[in-house]
Amino acid sequence: SLTLGIVGLPNVGKSTLFNALTRNDVLAANYPFATIEPNVGVVPLPDARLDKLAEVFSSAKTVPAVVSFVDIAGIVKGASEGAGLGNKFLANIREANAICQVIRVFDDPDVVHVDGHIDPMSDIETINTELILADLQTLEKAVWRLEKEARTKKEAKPALDAAQKAKAILDSGRTLFSAQKEVDVELLREHSLLTTKPFLYVFNADEGVLTDAARRDELTKLVAPADAVFLDAKVEAELLELDDEESVRELLESVGQEEPGLYSLARAGFHTLGLQTYLTAGPKESRAWTIPQGATAPQAAGVIHTDFERGFIKAEVVSYDDLIEAGSMTAARSAGKVRMEGKDYLMADGDVVEFRFNV
Ligand code: GDP
Repeated sequence: SLTLGIVGLPNVGKSTLFNALTRNDVLAANYPFATIEPNVGVVPLPDARLDKLAEVFSSAKTVPAVVSFVDIAGIVKGASEGAGLGNKFLANIREANAICQVIRVFDDPDVVHVDGHIDPMSDIETINTELILADLQTLEKAVWRLEKEARTKKEAKPALDAAQKAKAILDSGRTLFSAQKEVDVELLREHSLLTTKPFLYVFNADEGVLTDAARRDELTKLVAPADAVFLDAKVEAELLELDDEESVRELLESVGQEEPGLYSLARAGFHTLGLQTYLTAGPKESRAWTIPQGATAPQAAGVIHTDFERGFIKAEVVSYDDLIEAGSMTAARSAGKVRMEGKDYLMADGDVVEFRFNV
């Protein structure tokens, strides 16, 4: 499955956040046979629709979609110079599908900031610089090779142009993710570059920042078009210790949050990875399934079982809203809200589906 790699400067709260991510029990509860790796944190994607579906279908349980985060330990400054730990750091990032940078915006005189003061832009630039330098090294070799190739093979020209363009963007200090409109990243795929990966920013904040809409807005703009999430990692850890809803609500209220930050983090992570869900419902379970945005009906069926994709005939689809309005599948059918979709159908978020297939 796709993963987000958590990176950040020392002392920004990565471990605190990561511990909170690994302490929720979604994996154990719903995926008893999954191997739980020590450096992977799996969070459920909150989805209130599942409880509603479970009511309508008298499902025995609900199974949410999940988002996986990988803890990428290691030093950051100088990583691109290729010293042992730095190499490992870059190799781990290369394996992740998106980069989730934790940035400290909490005040605490007891926690030393590596650069002496809180400066989100400078934190972002420090990480970006290492990734940019690593990509530049990769591209320098690639351009050299592609130039040679392009002399004898015309087909190599677009790849060479893209690599040169990418190099110029990186030379100007920008990531390829932030410049994706200027260069065709498909043509760069073979180089496994780091800065083409989508970025997500987690601002580890204190109450002062969490309750300051203008400050949050400013930080959100700073990282756009990447997603920004605001949470207090220490509070997230405390929330997991609480077992009654009232205390949870009180603690959230005290920091001006409407829901746990892990919820927004899960949603943003899912979005950053380019994923969406569709739903199935029945007496056994109501469940959200993960598919890439733009997946077709047979591809969606394949997520349940590869045989479903191979033997795909039709998908019986009703939108969640129509289904809930009708009150039952039978009522939705008589209201003409249930559609039969073929193999070219592009799945929409909130589709409740039953697949017809040959085995
Ligand atoms: P890492 O080096 O990025 O993994 O940072 P840690 O998670 O180890 O956190 C460094 C220190 O900051 C620890 O003493 C944490 O308790 C503290 N810390 C982490 N998150 C917060 C936060 O949101 N608020 C405050 N005040 N302290 C935090």
